[in-house]
Amino acid sequence: MRTHSLGFPRMGRNRELKTALEAHWAGRLDTEGLLAVAADLRLRHWALQRDAGIDLVPVGDFSLYDHMLDLAATFGVVPGRYGHAGGPVPTDLYFRMARGGQDACGDVTAMEMTKWFDTNYHYIVPEFAADQAFALTGDGIRAQARQARDAGFAAKAVLPGPFTFLLLGKCADPAADPSRLLPRLLPAYRELLGELAETCPWIELDEPVLAQDLPRDLAEPFRAAYESLIEAAGPAKLLLATYFGGIAHNLPFVAGLPLGGLHIDCQRDPTQIAPVTAALAPETALSLGLVDGRNIWRVDAAAALARLDLAAERVGRDRILLAPSCSLLHCPVDLDDETALDPAVRHWMAFAAQKCREVRLLADAAAPGDRTRPEVTAGLAENRAAWEDRRQSRLARDEHVRRRVAEISPDMFHRPAPYPERARAQRAALSLPPLPTTTIGSFPQTPEIRRARRAHRAGELGDAAYEAFLKETLADTVARQEALGLDVLVHGEAERGDMVEYFGERLSGFCFTKHGWVQSYGSRCVKPPVLHGDVSRPGPMTVAWSAFAASLTPRPMKGMLTGPATILCWSFVRDDQPREATRRQIALALRDEVADLEAAGLRVIQIDEPALREGLPLRRRDWDQAIALAVDDFRLAASVARPETQIHTHMCYAEFGEIVPAIAAMDADVISLEASRSRMELLSAFADYAYPNEIGPGLYDIHSPRVPSVEEMEELLLRAAAVIDPRKLWANPDCGLKTRAWPETTAALANLVEAARRARRRLGLA
Ligand code: GLN
Ligand code: ZN
Repeated sequence: MRTHSLGFPRMGRNRELKTALEAHWAGRLDTEGLLAVAADLRLRHWALQRDAGIDLVPVGDFSLYDHMLDLAATFGVVPGRYGHAGGPVPTDLYFRMARGGQDACGDVTAMEMTKWFDTNYHYIVPEFAADQAFALTGDGIRAQARQARDAGFAAKAVLPGPFTFLLLGKCADPAADPSRLLPRLLPAYRELLGELAETCPWIELDEPVLAQDLPRDLAEPFRAAYESLIEAAGPAKLLLATYFGGIAHNLPFVAGLPLGGLHIDCQRDPTQIAPVTAALAPETALSLGLVDGRNIWRVDAAAALARLDLAAERVGRDRILLAPSCSLLHCPVDLDDETALDPAVRHWMAFAAQKCREVRLLADAAAPGDRTRPEVTAGLAENRAAWEDRRQSRLARDEHVRRRVAEISPDMFHRPAPYPERARAQRAALSLPPLPTTTIGSFPQTPEIRRARRAHRAGELGDAAYEAFLKETLADTVARQEALGLDVLVHGEAERGDMVEYFGERLSGFCFTKHGWVQSYGSRCVKPPVLHGDVSRPGPMTVAWSAFAASLTPRPMKGMLTGPATILCWSFVRDDQPREATRRQIALALRDEVADLEAAGLRVIQIDEPALREGLPLRRRDWDQAIALAVDDFRLAASVARPETQIHTHMCYAEFGEIVPAIAAMDADVISLEASRSRMELLSAFADYAYPNEIGPGLYDIHSPRVPSVEEMEELLLRAAAVIDPRKLWANPDCGLKTRAWPETTAALANLVEAARRARRRLGLA
C-alpha cells in the first residue's frame, strides 16, 4: 500500500529556517544564503520522510513565509500598493508583502493575515483587484519540484486548490465574490499543472474549504474546474485533498469526478468513509488520513486499521493510499529529540517523524494476512502496549479536580452586577480620561530578556539574580509607559516566554517539550504545552509580578491572564476525554487566579482569548453550542471579580464579525481587538450589533516594524467614533508588542497617545 505525506514542518528540527529568515531580515544573510538554507532543509525533510517509509514526498509544502502567499506570488497576485510592474516576485518584495516595510523603497503596510481554518497557523490573505489578472510568473514550486527530481525523490507537488485560494482571499471591493475570478484563474492553474506534470507523477490540490459550508451553486463550477484541471495535469495524477473535517455534506462537489485520488481526514471524521467511498469514481484512489496531523499522540493502530478495513471492503485495498490526516506542519519534528520528557507521557506520543513511520506501519499491516508478519506484529504490539498504559495511567486523574467541576453552580457564571452598574463603579475607581490608552500586555522581549530567561532555565543564572533582573525590567517598562503618558499600564510580560506555556508550567496536568516548535506565522514559532492530565492550580501564577508592577505606579495596572479557550487551543490537548471537559478545568484554575489578583489590589484584569474564534468548528451549524460552552468558561473564570474590578479581554487575527453576539455574551467590561489590517471593517459589525460594553479597536499592526503616524491613528479613532459611542472607545495597538523592538514601539505608542489626545479634542471629549 502506497503512502504519502501532505506536508512537513518547514522550520527544521533546530528551527534553522527561523534563524536564517531573521538573519536575512536583519541584513546579516543575503538572499542566496537564505535560499541555500531553504534548499538544504527541503532535502533533509524529503530524506527523513522517505526513510520513515513515505513513498511520495511533498513538494511545495515548504515556504519561506506562507504557502498562500507563495501561490499569490506564483500567479502574480501583487496588490497595487507594492508598485510591482509584473514578472516574477523578487524575494525582497515577497517579504514586504508578508511584513510590510519602511525603507528606502517607501512605506507600505503588510498584507492581511489570518488563521488557517481552526489551526494556530496564520496565512497571508490573497488580495484580489476587481480586474485581477493571473499569470504564471513565479518559479517557486516548479524549481522545488526540479530539486526533488534531481535529488532522486518520488515527488508529489502540493498546492492550495483554486477554490481554497479564491475563497480564502479577499477582493478590494468587499462585496465582490472572489469565486467570480475563477475563469481568469483557471488558465494559470492549468499552465502550472501542465508544467508540474513534467516532474511530478502526482499533483495534490488542497481544498480544505470542502470541510466547511459551501454554497450549493458552487458545486457545478467546482466540478467543471476540476475536470479541466485533471485534463491539464495530463499524465500526472491529480489528488484532491480535504482535511480538518468531513466532506460528506459536500459530496455533490466531488461525486464521480475522475480524480486520480481523493484524500479525506478520517481523524476528524471517520464517519465520512462510507458516504465518500460510495461517491468515488471507479478510477479514483482513496487516500485515508488515519494518523492525526494536528496532535502529538500516537495513532490508535487498532482503531485506524478498523477504519482502513472498512474502506478496503468498499473500494478494494489496491485503491487505497495512506497518509497523515493533514499536513504535518502543525506538529513538531521529531520525538527522538525529547530526551527530558517524562518517559511515561513520552511513550504515548508521536511527532512528525514518528507519524510518518506510523503511516508506514498501518500500510504494512493493511492486508489482514500481513498483520502476522513479525516486523508488523512487533510494531502493532508496541502501539497496543502504549495505549493500554495510557488508558490505565493514574497520571491523568485528579479526583479533587473532578469533584470541584461537579460542584460548579449557575451563579458562578455571572458577575455580581450588570455592566452599566459595573461601568459606574469602575469609572469611580479608576478615573480614566475618555478614549483611555493602553497596550495589550507584552512589551519588547529584548535579546537581554531572552538571554536572561535562557540562562535561568539552564541554571546559569540563579533565582535571585533572575528575579532582580526581571524587577529591573518591569520597573523600566512601567517607567517608559508613564513617560509615554499611557493611562492603563501593563507589567510587560517579560517573565513569560509564551502566553500559554507560562500558565501551563504553573498548572498541574501539563508537561513540556524541549524542541516541540510549531510555526505560527512567518518565522514565529510556538511550543505548545502538552496537556495530558486533569488541570489544577497548585498556587498563584501571576500575582507576584503583577502586584510588584502595580506597586511602582499610581496608575491602574492590568493583571494579565490567558483565557481557558486559548490555553486549550494552543496546547496539544489530551484526546482521551472531550475537549470541553478539559477547558472547564482550566477555567476553574483561572478563576482562582482572578480572585487572587483582585485580592492583591489589581483593579484591572485582562483575560486574553485570541483563540476563541479559531477554536470553533468548521461548520456553522456546530457553532452555537460550541461558542456557548467557550463563553461559559470565560465567564466562569471572570465572574468571580467584584463590580469595580474591570475585566478586559483581547482577541486577534480572525474574522470576529460573525461572532459579535457571543463576544458580547462574554460580558467583559472592555475588549481590545485586532482591526488595523482589515481597516476597521470589523467595527461596523460591532456597531450594527450595538455592542453593549467598551471596545478598543487595534489602531496599528504590531506585526510590522512600521511606525504609524499620529494622523493615521487619529483618523482611525475618528472613524471608530463615528460608529461606536466615543465614551466606550479605547485606544490601543492591535496585539502584544513582544515581537517588536523598543525604538519603533516607543515611537508608535507616542504617536498613539498623541492621536488619542487629538481625537479627544476633535470629538469634544477633552
Ligand atoms: N497579552 C498578550 C500579549 O500582549 C496577548 C497576545 C495575543 O493576543 N496573542 O502578548
Ligand atoms: Zn493579540
